[in-house]
Amino acid sequence: MSTQTKRRAPFRESRKPFADLGRPGKEVRVFPLPTAALLLGGAALAGCRVAAAAGAPPHPGAQVTPTHELVALHDRVRMGGLEDRRFTQEAYWSVVGPVVEGHPAFRVEEVGRSAEGRPLRTVTFGRGPVPVLLWSQMHGDESTATMALADLYAAVAREGGHPALRTIQEALTVHTLPMLNPDGAQRFQRRNAQGIDINRDARMLATPEGRTLKDLRDRIRPLFGFNLHDQAVGTRVGRTDRGVAIALLSPPFDETRAVNEVRHRAMEVMGVMIQALEPLVGGHVARYDDSFNPRAFGDLITRWGTSVILVESGGWPDDPQKQYLRKANFVALVAALEAIAKESYKGVGTALYEGLPPNGRRVADLLVRGATLVVPGLPPWRADLLVNYEDPLLAAGGVISDVGDLADVEALDTLNLEGLFLRPLPAALDLRGGGVQLRVGGPAHFTVSRRQDGLEPLWTFLGGPPAELRRRQ
Ligand SMILES: [Zn+2]
Repeated sequence: MSTQTKRRAPFRESRKPFADLGRPGKEVRVFPLPTAALLLGGAALAGCRVAAAAGAPPHPGAQVTPTHELVALHDRVRMGGLEDRRFTQEAYWSVVGPVVEGHPAFRVEEVGRSAEGRPLRTVTFGRGPVPVLLWSQMHGDESTATMALADLYAAVAREGGHPALRTIQEALTVHTLPMLNPDGAQRFQRRNAQGIDINRDARMLATPEGRTLKDLRDRIRPLFGFNLHDQAVGTRVGRTDRGVAIALLSPPFDETRAVNEVRHRAMEVMGVMIQALEPLVGGHVARYDDSFNPRAFGDLITRWGTSVILVESGGWPDDPQKQYLRKANFVALVAALEAIAKESYKGVGTALYEGLPPNGRRVADLLVRGATLVVPGLPPWRADLLVNYEDPLLAAGGVISDVGDLADVEALDTLNLEGLFLRPLPAALDLRGGGVQLRVGGPAHFTVSRRQDGLEPLWTFLGGPPAELRRRQ
């Protein structure tokens, strides 16, 4: 197919400004994000499953509580007050503190301070001989597992006699450090207050948060370490069009990516997690990139002898606050801890983990197709516009990342503005050089109008589609 045909084929003679522009025969969407209403593409994909490795019958040896029972447990205990995934440490602790502090099942300890002096606390439960460490949100804008840990505390506090939780507490000592990067969480940003990516600080240890994690690892010497993150929501499963809900990884300990006993243990436990996740997000589980990174905590902690399990929460349809993935995290973590407690992961094998498709390409957030751009001093021109959000789940903080012929670019959302005029607002304009030009890399602020002069605008975009468009059916 020629470029020209490709470019023209999707433009229909439709007068409807927001008709779907999925390429013929291709379902372009997996996640109906808040802007889903704009685009009527392949939302149906969400329910599809792959019957490959992830669909294999549970290994009889795993002997963990069935997923539906863990879901029911989660429904009963889920911690209220964390419905918005942006929360500060103070807000988190105002919810979690009353549950764990003074409760006989928990020991709360301040193990360090962040760069800005916020307390880094561990919450520990269980009195068994096997130490396990879970840490979350070392990237301040990755809070899904932090919410799931709150639910885990609530489960232990309120239903500690549940067979799975009783077994876990008898066999394991579970150390958790929720929100390792409270300064980043304060601003909902990836890096800490020093501007350092804590997960690239395992070698230099320039951050107080990284040093705290290292000290904790050295003191506890956990058999298993759960490194809990969120990843880009636009990531696809392998070469498919399915979005990744959960990505897992046993980080390598050197360039050869050899599998030793330490990694083998992690892979077997992940086999249990994959089975537990199957009824919830089957077909949407992938393997994270396994290149060795000598600065990353997961890789070095593996080298230091702890079986690290990296969990990355991605995206899920109609789940902008990641509450469904919070539940999936809870289920996977309880199943993993139960399997470790019972040692029932032994013999599960590595095939389930190794059979996971890799994290595939990452698609852009929003493709605006077919509008005519109007910038003062330039003749109007017809072009596509690519927008990437600072917060893709909320379709907010959009930045213009490209302009031109973008017919072949994949995006989570596509917006057809054919026949309409797009006028950048001042923030989206670059006034250097004695003229006015569109500022690629600038905020996606513009009006949409039927008129070339931009009067009587239909909509105004301020970093994302206006609310009324998101609600459109
Ligand atoms: Zn991360």
